Amino acid sequence: MGERIAIVGAGVSGLTCGVVFAEHGHRTAIFAKETGQQTTSGAAAALWFPYDAEPTERVIPWALRTFDVLASLALVPATGVSMIEARQYLRTGEIPIPDWAIPLGASVIQPEVTGVLESFASGFSLRVPLTDTTLYLDYLATRFRKAGGEIHANVHFQELEEIDSRFDLVINCAGIGARELVQDGDLEPHRGQVAIVPKIQGLSCAIVCDEAPLMYAIPRTNDCVFGGTNDVSENSAADPETTSRIVAECSRVLKIDKPRVLAERVGLRPFRRSGVRLAPDQLRDGRTIIHNYGHGGAGFTLSWGCAGEAVKIAVSSA
Ligand SMILES: Cc1cc2nc3c(=O)[nH]c(=O)nc-3n(C[C@H](O)[C@H](O)[C@H](O)COP(=O)(O)OP(=O)(O)OC[C@H]3O[C@@H](n4cnc5c(N)ncnc54)[C@H](O)[C@@H]3O)c2cc1C
Repeated sequence: MGERIAIVGAGVSGLTCGVVFAEHGHRTAIFAKETGQQTTSGAAAALWFPYDAEPTERVIPWALRTFDVLASLALVPATGVSMIEARQYLRTGEIPIPDWAIPLGASVIQPEVTGVLESFASGFSLRVPLTDTTLYLDYLATRFRKAGGEIHANVHFQELEEIDSRFDLVINCAGIGARELVQDGDLEPHRGQVAIVPKIQGLSCAIVCDEAPLMYAIPRTNDCVFGGTNDVSENSAADPETTSRIVAECSRVLKIDKPRVLAERVGLRPFRRSGVRLAPDQLRDGRTIIHNYGHGGAGFTLSWGCAGEAVKIAVSSA
């Protein structure tokens, strides 16, 4: 494996790869235009759930691997990871429990369990990891630095060959930025908008309905995330009308008065039509690059599984 490793991107994919490579003893540096809360990762909800990412046969094993790592991090409160009951609903018809969810203990929600079900026709529930991005991205950055890693912010590459030649292996975790960086026309911005509201009294589980209009209410340590949207759009500005619609729908489902909005967040989910790109390639100057982008609506859910596979690819291409 290359001695010095450069990672492009400081969202959840870049930071998790950084931790894994640095803790394997490699001299690793992260370069990124934006860091932490400025990234798409900073706008995420970010519940463990394999949503809006392809292909299923690769996504599910990565997701299950990540589940295990996040579940162990949930034992340490400072990570910002906790376990939460997630209730997944449909407005019409019988919701199928996916095969992968059964070994995780998913079960059908019985109508008498929750009044919220009145808005929905059916649902299933399972305990999953929830990462509070306001804590978790900092946790990853701190863990990476402790393992000897360096983070260089405000660095914008036009092309990957600009990376200093002292780095012999490059990992591309540029998210939607990979469209321009490596001219990947297969990437599609799946715009998501959320409203951050104060903690909702009595709401201790995540309520999710993936059926249009997308709706979720996710209680975090200090606040609650109301969502959401998923449209193909480049627009990274928050739309006040969308925020009002999100808050109205979540309040209707939860049967509460509309809370005040503390913040609005928008992120572009890096959806890749032909599936997550996690594979080696070569730069024009002959250096090996490993692409790790295109995680769509599941970047947190796939993060540890993909980082682990990136290390395996690095070992086998050394
Ligand atoms: C509203 C919303 C809700 C979501 N909810 C969930 C959820 O519940 N669970 C879940 O798992 N996922 C969720 N997601 C999806 C998740 O946020 C993304 O899949 C994830 O953030 C992608 O992470 P990333 O690190 O690959 O990309 P990003 O977070 O976008 O990071 C990309 C990094 O690359 C850098 N970069 C890009 N181009 C360049 C360049 N040319 N030069 C230098 N640096 C560059 C950027 O500055 C940034 O640091 C949600 C997304 C949104 C928008």
